[in-house]
Amino acid sequence: MEISTRAFEHNYRLLTSTLVDRGDEPGLPVELLAIVKADAYGHGLRLCAPAAVRAGARWLGVTSVEEGVAARSACSGETGSPGTDSPEILVISGVFPGQGAAVIEHRLTAVVWDAWQLDELEVAARAVGCDAGSVAVHLELDTGMNRQGVAAADLKEILARFDAESPLRMDGLMTHLYAADESDGVATHEQFERLEEAVRLVHAAAGRQPIWLHVGNSAAVLAGEVPLALQRLCSDFGMKPLMRPGLALYGLAPEFSPDEPERVGALRNQLQPVLAWKTRVASVREVSAGQAVGYNGTFVATEPMRLALLAVGYADGLKRALSNRGSVLVRGERAPIVGRISMDQTMVDVTGIAGIQPGDEVVLLGRQGGEWIAAEEHAALAGTISWEIFTSITERVERRFVLNG
Ligand SMILES: *Cc1c(COP(=O)(O)O)cnc(C)c1O
Repeated sequence: MEISTRAFEHNYRLLTSTLVDRGDEPGLPVELLAIVKADAYGHGLRLCAPAAVRAGARWLGVTSVEEGVAARSACSGETGSPGTDSPEILVISGVFPGQGAAVIEHRLTAVVWDAWQLDELEVAARAVGCDAGSVAVHLELDTGMNRQGVAAADLKEILARFDAESPLRMDGLMTHLYAADESDGVATHEQFERLEEAVRLVHAAAGRQPIWLHVGNSAAVLAGEVPLALQRLCSDFGMKPLMRPGLALYGLAPEFSPDEPERVGALRNQLQPVLAWKTRVASVREVSAGQAVGYNGTFVATEPMRLALLAVGYADGLKRALSNRGSVLVRGERAPIVGRISMDQTMVDVTGIAGIQPGDEVVLLGRQGGEWIAAEEHAALAGTISWEIFTSITERVERRFVLNG
């Protein structure tokens, strides 16, 4: 896998510029927290986390404490890039019992919503002598996704936990939008109403006020309504607006339904794919009409054919659902996958393509010549989404830095 960190930086700056160029709006411009969970959507955390910081990200988002520790290490001085050592790292899916100490040691910012999570972090903070209000956390508000976050009914009780003695400091509030890709915006509008009520409650509570308010994913950043609503809400309550794109940083725009907001199309075309996934031809063979190919002979040659064996299979993350359906690029042309994709090997039909040799480069995702295969294509064939295509590519596939993607 070839990773263009330059494309990643371009995408970060492009998204930022869409949020800054809104001169006459009140309030502070929206900042971006770069989501680098799941090994940077399969693109390699070690490459992408420092790239996000170089592009200007003050915040990175990971799912777990383990990923947070890895992100901290990826951004530490050992990358050799000065100034990439101190992003804030948000752990978005909660902490497990026993992980409080690691959160504090690695200066991670935990997202919290359950009382026991506060207990865990407080005990760990006191154990190492942290002062009152010295450990920052972000409180997640459930505004309708019902996955995680404090429900409105429990908010007062949780807020009371942030008293003057607590070592914890509520530095941020967040919620997650569950339908930002639905262009009617109905669900998002309802979520914003609940968010505003919750923010009002927090604001009314005594004590220190949170600094950050963050919502939204790539769809919300690209569609453009949410940044404005967030900016307004933040300006009303004196908070700093932050949004959390993932997919778009890797060069893809999510699909919207039922139709795409006008602004998205132009941005989609300016995003640059960060990864190219390649393999090689391992061997070439001729088969005659009637010969069956691969496990269970699901493909039968209809005429004399030339097939190329590729060094890639479902153990690398090539979806088995692409058997007899997907295609690859070789010598700038499309070659259809024939027969079942095996664990480590795949056959493609190269009958019409001249001069195929063992060792030839084969593109699974990316560009070759004038042809192009996007993660969306694999997703459509495999009945899934691009996020899953990216994160399915396994560790066996080496992530290699390239200067130009
Ligand atoms: C993964 C995630 C995101 C990013 O979503 P994309 O659709 O990839 O932009 C944002 N916020 C939270 C809480 C997430 O879990």
